[in-house]
Amino acid sequence: MNEYRDLRVALLGCGSVGAQVARLLLEHGDELTARVGARLTLAGIAVRDVNSKRDVDLPIELFTTDAERLVQGADIVVELMGGIEPAKSLITLALQGGADVVTANKALIAAHGKELSATAEQVGAQLLFEASVAAAIPILRPLSESLVGDHITRVMGIVNGSTNYILDRMDRFGDSAEDAAKVASDLGFLEADPTLDVEGFDAAQKATILARIAFHTEVPEAAVHREGITKITAEQIEAAKHAGLVIKLLAIAERVTGSDDTEGVSVRVYPALLRRDHPLATVYEGKNAVFVEAEAAGELMFYGAGAGGAETASAVLGDLVSAARRHIVGGPGIIGSLHADLPVLPVGEIITSYQIMLEVRDEPGVLAKVATILAEHGVSAASVEQNTSKGAAGHAALIIGTHAAREADLASTVAALANDSAVTEVLSVLRMEGAA
Ligand code: NAP
Repeated sequence: MNEYRDLRVALLGCGSVGAQVARLLLEHGDELTARVGARLTLAGIAVRDVNSKRDVDLPIELFTTDAERLVQGADIVVELMGGIEPAKSLITLALQGGADVVTANKALIAAHGKELSATAEQVGAQLLFEASVAAAIPILRPLSESLVGDHITRVMGIVNGSTNYILDRMDRFGDSAEDAAKVASDLGFLEADPTLDVEGFDAAQKATILARIAFHTEVPEAAVHREGITKITAEQIEAAKHAGLVIKLLAIAERVTGSDDTEGVSVRVYPALLRRDHPLATVYEGKNAVFVEAEAAGELMFYGAGAGGAETASAVLGDLVSAARRHIVGGPGIIGSLHADLPVLPVGEIITSYQIMLEVRDEPGVLAKVATILAEHGVSAASVEQNTSKGAAGHAALIIGTHAAREADLASTVAALANDSAVTEVLSVLRMEGAA
């Protein structure tokens, strides 16, 4: 029998994810020991209330409310408390003491990842956070290791399960936005504060992390262009369906060349149209997926569960084993470098296409007028469909699909259309993504 060295693992938090991590560590201890080459000993679990009922039966003597003390004696700290404080101070304390840290805390990594990674680098410790984006789906390690020799051009993900669930119900079951949100809420899909999901904050946090890893560039949360799904209507979903499209809330991080030839990145979250044959179009219910485009590898798709205690614990355990192996071997951790330091370009610089729905006066010359406004702004129409049966009497609905153009030109086109006397209402404007 091999004599294994002990690595002391401190677990901070024992909620949905933490309890599953503790269970897996205890149940699979021998197997993990053989895989790591060291014994992972659960040294303790810090919580707020040691007497709370847990999802998993765990020895009571493991629990403590003294998180600082637990951290100080640990080789590896697994932070699963959530929130900014005390998680940030405890992670800093752990790293400064030379411990490696694994966390699933997207809010913390999005806001303070740069600073925490710098602390880790200074002391040669590792900070791993695979579970912070799309939970069970391995995406940060593929981006930072498997694809590190390639040149990633775009990362486009469905990274918020709740909003995907709502949009999917509206699309496949014809629910209204309110009914779909109610079902999502009843099933526990929405965060306690639903604005984090429906206004795109959660997806924006994940987008900053994806951008940082894919493009070696710090992207502050404030630099992410963010639009939620609250304005999406059943009519827009229907119109998309009719055109062979589907609306998904996308988190996009992309290399872009600005109008003055600046090389930069664009990071944005918004509901967008996708063709129904795009791989992301068939991501149903609360599932997540990330679609990656790289120069040499081409298109790759990572799909799976974006939430759940056991699912998230799987990614945490993966990081824990990786951290433990390196702890034994020594050497610097896999710290995502920010060397590229590309500028984050405003959303006006992206190149995309629009689907614009207008209500117009049903009279001669209107189509020509609309075409002239598009041409004046350097935007060309790929398709125009007129529907006289919709809208008030004497009016028609016009659905215009544009060719790709710079967002700033598309936005000024829409503004000019809104101001024209032939247009009575701009019913909807959606971006179209996923085209080559
Ligand atoms: P949770 O169920 O709310 O559990 C939080 C745990 O942390 C509880 O055990 C709580 O102790 C403990 N805790 C909170 N504040 C504390 C403090 N000040 N001192 C000591 N202990 C404290 O959270 P969760 O859903 O497991 O999520 C954990 C992390 O994983 C979060 O960062 C979350 O964003 C991330 N994540 C979760 C999921 C998911 O599906 N749940 C998916 C991906 C990422 P008590 O039990 O005593 O209250």
